[in-house]
Amino acid sequence: MIRFDDQVAIVTGAGVGLGRSHALGLAARGAKVVVNDLGVSTDGKGKSSDAARGVVAEIEAMGGEAFVHGADVTDQGQVNDMIGQTMKRWGRIDILVNNAGILLDKTFAKMSMGDFRKVVDVHLLGSANCCHAVWPIMREQKYGRIVLTSSASGLYGNFGQSNYGAAKAAMAGLMNVLHHEGGRDDIRVNTLAPTAATRMTEQLLPPEALEVLQPETITPGLLYLVSQDAPSKTILSAGAGVFAQTRIYETQGQLIEGDITPEAVAAQWSKITDPTDQEELQDAFSQTRKYAKRAAEAKGIK
Ligand code: NAD
Repeated sequence: MIRFDDQVAIVTGAGVGLGRSHALGLAARGAKVVVNDLGVSTDGKGKSSDAARGVVAEIEAMGGEAFVHGADVTDQGQVNDMIGQTMKRWGRIDILVNNAGILLDKTFAKMSMGDFRKVVDVHLLGSANCCHAVWPIMREQKYGRIVLTSSASGLYGNFGQSNYGAAKAAMAGLMNVLHHEGGRDDIRVNTLAPTAATRMTEQLLPPEALEVLQPETITPGLLYLVSQDAPSKTILSAGAGVFAQTRIYETQGQLIEGDITPEAVAAQWSKITDPTDQEELQDAFSQTRKYAKRAAEAKGIK
């Protein structure tokens, strides 16, 4: 049985949608939960703590413990205050779920760089702010579970979401590095790529899809990703009760011998992109070593 008794979790953007579902799921299994929410609209406008207070009331009604913190995740000072208050009240932070998000969709041709920055600021820098604030605490505890929230938009692409897709793909990059840096202190970092019926998607999806894509079908995957036996450096895609791992593979590749020209690259394209025996590399240097070894062997260098 996966339980979170005596553990403390922070869920950002937890007033509605997926964040609310994650907060309730964590509390139902014993975690004390900080329900963070700025209470903005999908496009980042307004501000309210009503929804977050409602989630805290739901948690308290089930006998759990929770409090609201209205930190804007883009504001490092407000995030630090949230972490400080959590430590003062409960003395530890075991789980951080970076979930807060906004959308400002437009084709790249029509998008202002201001709107590009705003979206990157909430998703990428907001997540980095929260991770950075809990990092020393998790290192000191020698325990931490962090989830970043990505999206198929970033992993596979979606028309009109260059800002959002770029920010969401960056989650994988942040995860990959934090995984390597956190490993020795048992800090495990994973990424959730959900697809859910929330106010963010209600205008975009047909009713029959919305019916099966409830956030509650995704939260069990999130709970596993923040559990004691969680994996690390995993992208879990989830929706409607379907769970899949999204991975980045590299082909075996092709060493171009002789003149390394664009024409040679074109001529060998089918070998360069051949997926036979493609592999998932463990870290950046694995790639460097792979290339240097292949080239050195071909040149007879030991
Ligand atoms: P939602 O709009 O229902 O909820 C987002 C929450 O984030 C809101 O409560 C909002 O107030 C909060 N928030 C926004 N900016 C904030 C800030 N600066 N500081 C603190 N809180 C802030 O969205 P959702 O559909 O539940 O999405 C949750 C996460 O999942 C987001 O990161 C979203 O990008 C991601 N996601 C959702 C889907 C989907 O299908 N719904 C798909 C892929 C990824």
